[in-house]
Parts: sequence; structure tokens; C-alpha cells
Amino acid sequence: MKNEMTLAFDSRSENEGFARVAVAAFVTQLNPTLEEVADIRTAVSEAVTNAIIHGYPDGIHTVVVRAVLEDDMLELWVTDEGVGMEDVRQAMEPLYTSRPELERSGMGFMFMEAFMDQVEVQSSPGVGTTVYMRKRIQKGATGQEA
Ligand code: ATP
Ligand code: MG
Repeated sequence: MKNEMTLAFDSRSENEGFARVAVAAFVTQLNPTLEEVADIRTAVSEAVTNAIIHGYPDGIHTVVVRAVLEDDMLELWVTDEGVGMEDVRQAMEPLYTSRPELERSGMGFMFMEAFMDQVEVQSSPGVGTTVYMRKRIQKGATGQEA
């Protein structure tokens, strides 16, 4: 079975928790383990926080999170139409941050790559950024609430 949902919300830091909880609740139908849910929550949190802080440094604009479940696979897209990135490869290097003055540590993409099976970033300066992530949920796990 395929099941899909899309969230569109203002780029306010308050909404990071909303997006994280909403995706975790949506994924519950695949009976993920608590550890898998924690991994997904962290990955969503990092991608959404990046869209809010880096994608839209000025003003409030829309962040879109799309999630698709198919069989035991979760696919996620986190999209902003913000400033984009000149050099995605550099941005994804461990500990690289363009905002050290905000006490960012450059760990976001590291966490996404550690906790998800695959992470791909498409970005163009002035156009925006989409982070694509996928994770296979272990079959046969006992159900746990998000
Ligand atoms: P941390 O996540 O540890 O707080 P960080 O956000 O700087 O620090 P990453 O999440 O790894 O670290 O992101 C690395 C860099 O990639 C950011 O500093 C920023 O320059 C760029 N970046 C990430 N996401 C976006 C985005 N949605 N739009 C524009 N630039 C982005
Ligand atoms: Mg980050």
C-alpha cells in the first residue's frame, strides 16, 4: 500500500516540533521501533530547522514536508524556496557551517546521513532547497506509539 501526506507551514521555529511529531505519528502505521522513530524525528528536525534558519534567514515563508510510505519504506522531502546553496558538497561536509555566529555546529547533515538510509540534497542559489531522505522500516517490529 502507498500512503502519502504533505504539510505546508510557516518557517517559524515553533513549527519544527510540529513537523517532527506529525511525521513520527504518520510513520507509526509501519510499526517502527522506538529507535527508528527517534531517528526519523531527528532527521526531520534537522532538515526543517535548516529550512527555517538557513533557507529563510529573513522573514517568514513556507516550508513543505512530504512523506510517502510504501510497503516498509519511508521517503521524505523537506523543501524551502529560500536562498539555496552555492556548494551542496561543501555544505554537507561534517562540521561545515555557514553560521558559526549562531552557535551552529555543522552537524545537521551528519545526523540526517547517520539516521536515514539515504540523503540527497538538491539546491540552487535563489531558488531553494529540497532534502530527500529515505529509510526502510524493519519488518516484524512490534508496534510502538510515536
Ligand atoms: P547545526 O545543524 O549543527 O545546527 P548547521 O545547520 O550549520 O549546524 P548543517 O545542518 O549540517 O549544519 O548544514 C550545513 C550548512 O548547509 C549550513 O550551515 C548552511 O550553510 C547550509 N544549509 C543547510 N540547509 C540549508 C537550506 N535549507 N538552505 C540554505 N542553506 C542550507
Ligand atoms: Mg542544521
